[in-house]
Amino acid sequence: MRGFGTTIFAEMSALAVQTGSINLGQGFPDTDGPAAMLDRAIQAITSGANQYPPGPGTPELRRAVSEHRAEHYGLSYDPAGEILITVGATEAVAASVLALCEPGDEVIAFEPYYDSYAASIALAQARLVAVTMRPVAGRFTFDPDELRAAVTPRTRAILVNSPHNPTGTVFTREELTAIADLCRERDLVAITDEVYEHLTFDGVEHISLATLPGMRERTVAISSAGKTFSVTGWKTGWVCAPAPLVTAVQTVKQFLTFTASAPWQLAVAYGLRQELEWVAALRSGLQDKRDRLMEGLAAAGFEVLRPAGTYFVQTDIRPLGFADGLELTRRLPELAGVVAIPTQVFYDHPERGRHFVRFAFCKKDEVIDEAVTRLKRLSGA
Ligand SMILES: *Cc1c(COP(=O)(O)O)cnc(C)c1O
Repeated sequence: MRGFGTTIFAEMSALAVQTGSINLGQGFPDTDGPAAMLDRAIQAITSGANQYPPGPGTPELRRAVSEHRAEHYGLSYDPAGEILITVGATEAVAASVLALCEPGDEVIAFEPYYDSYAASIALAQARLVAVTMRPVAGRFTFDPDELRAAVTPRTRAILVNSPHNPTGTVFTREELTAIADLCRERDLVAITDEVYEHLTFDGVEHISLATLPGMRERTVAISSAGKTFSVTGWKTGWVCAPAPLVTAVQTVKQFLTFTASAPWQLAVAYGLRQELEWVAALRSGLQDKRDRLMEGLAAAGFEVLRPAGTYFVQTDIRPLGFADGLELTRRLPELAGVVAIPTQVFYDHPERGRHFVRFAFCKKDEVIDEAVTRLKRLSGA
């Protein structure tokens, strides 16, 4: 794991604390999840849910995940054997990659990619093959021919994150069809990271890759409660897949953590069943925050790319006279009292993302407004 030093989030969040800057770097909300769901967690503890739950997860949460997948995507997963509860989506991705890959196998991921992917693939002694997403008409997308060319006889899986962090792209049916066609033709497994499944805007709906023809049987679908319910500290995620795939993932998972924490599982089961109206309100509130931040960043002189989902806005810093996002974000606390994330750290080819900087909008309106006011110093606007 040499070369995987501290993450950019640790560096930038520490910088924010040191300099008293506003932190629009790391993507965690600054308000709490639904109150009744938080109470359920407390109740779970006081009523004795404090010992190891079963390895695959508490039956209540497995049933709630199954119902949720059926209701939202029309997909049926058996809570006994086709669903596994994990310590967040992070563990679900790691255990899936470790379960599916032999040393030397290749896993395709779309860059810029969520930083844990590269580390999980390295732990499996597999190789990450990056297919680059680029802005086309104001939206990051990939070239289907480049994706096709990235497949080799060693390719084992494609890691598909939609809604996509850090670009905010929500893959269209056409994009997903290109991925699905390739998975079927080349006998690949799809590992889908759907943690932002409910956080999409402008009426754009998330499509789960497993719903495409022939894909349910070759998809390891992953999601988590953290983003959906604004409880990123709960680290409660899940895997939905055919039994042989879930068995393989669970075989790894049992020796990583054995099982996930009990109280959160009961509370998340409640959330999935009772709090989706709260989530709908979160989603529309986030859309307003996105618009608020986009408008402010544009007024401050950034070129802004409109995300269709997630917590994040991508900006091009060149109109402000900067060329390197890493250099700018390291100076941003001193220049403007704001912390952001240089997008280039999410690439295997950093030069392709050099001029992009990511800002998070999952923050209180007054925090966004203050950040924008400060950022206007950059251009003297
Ligand atoms: C936040 C995030 C995760 C991590 O989810 P946890 O449930 O906290 O482990 C995984 N993937 C993406 C794309 C994320 O943004």
